[in-house]
Amino acid sequence: MTVILTPRRVTLWPCQREDPELWFSETTKERERAKAICRRCPVQEACLAHSMTHRIKFGIWGGVDEKERGKLLRQRPKQVTKPRPKSGTRPKPEPSGVRGVSWNSYKGQWTVTIRHARESHWVGVFDEQADAERAAVAKCNELNIPTFRKGAA
Ligand code: SF4
Repeated sequence: MTVILTPRRVTLWPCQREDPELWFSETTKERERAKAICRRCPVQEACLAHSMTHRIKFGIWGGVDEKERGKLLRQRPKQVTKPRPKSGTRPKPEPSGVRGVSWNSYKGQWTVTIRHARESHWVGVFDEQADAERAAVAKCNELNIPTFRKGAA
């Protein structure tokens, strides 16, 4: 049997076809040339997003140089983090005896995740323990597995 191998077509982005030094050049003229080439690149946006996400310090990515990326990063709206509830706002309750029900002290809520046969089944987050236990029991019934943890009454 004869196998004919045809070469795979590989897409090269503009910076892979030109001299890569252009993208790391110190001269303004060459840097502007690299930026102009980037502006015609089909993956410009993705390339810039990648460099921003990974905080790449050097070179021109997606037509944007280090200084411009730094400026863009500073202009980004700051991530808002949910304030942590003050300790003592809601006392830690007794642990639930129902499988998969656990107290999340950070959120101050009950979470239900049923682990079975090496799989994790996320059920939800509940304010009330009774609701969490009901949801856990329903999921256990659906999975046809025992409801209570070993050792629980
Ligand atoms: S946008 Fe990114 S992938 Fe495209 S030419 Fe510029 S540096 Fe290369």
